[in-house]
Amino acid sequence: MKIHQAEFVISNTDPAKCPKPDRPEYAFIGRSNVGKSSLINRLVQRPDLAKTSGKPGKTQLINHFRINDLKGETPWYLVDLPGFGFAKVPKTIRDQFATIITGYLTSRPNLQCIFVLIDMRIPPQKIDLDFMTRLGEAELPFAMVFTKTEKLKSGGRQLALEAYREAMAEIFDTFPTYFVTSAVTGEGRDEVLTYIEELNSE
Ligand code: GDP
Repeated sequence: MKIHQAEFVISNTDPAKCPKPDRPEYAFIGRSNVGKSSLINRLVQRPDLAKTSGKPGKTQLINHFRINDLKGETPWYLVDLPGFGFAKVPKTIRDQFATIITGYLTSRPNLQCIFVLIDMRIPPQKIDLDFMTRLGEAELPFAMVFTKTEKLKSGGRQLALEAYREAMAEIFDTFPTYFVTSAVTGEGRDEVLTYIEELNSE
């Protein structure tokens, strides 16, 4: 799929104020600093669309972007969700994020897939595994997106995948759909967009 248009629509903390769920929607989430903003910008080829921040945990908002809302195209929403789990963010704020995120995830009938971003260089973290467990329990569709993978050679990638396979096998019968990406090299971009295109046409 080609991205012909990517436009910011609205930021808010109240899921009820999100745009009407009138088209397929894809959410991106992950721990602070996982590379979410960089990957979103790479996906839509707009260097400044999602705000990369030097201050992890700063974004507290549900950000909707309108993609390909043009004649002859299939429009969809890309949603940038707050980063979670950054230790330096006070617990009260972290609890607020969790409430916003849960409220959002459980109120969007048009949500086709939640892309859970995971830094491939880091061993499986409880916070990510717990988050995916909750998605599974809520029967929400998700895929894993490994980030910063250009930092690993193929052996390192295999080891990381093995570690995730083992950790996820404790929770899920089958390993979820996953993508190996890098915002630096653009690896995985086409695969993620093709996946979205496939879901859009279902
Ligand atoms: P966010 O907090 O999840 O939105 O993360 P950002 O996109 O702001 O990125 C956090 C840090 O990781 C920044 O220093 C980025 O330059 C770096 N980063 C993001 N993506 C990649 C990647 O694919 N490879 C590498 N090596 N670094 C990345």
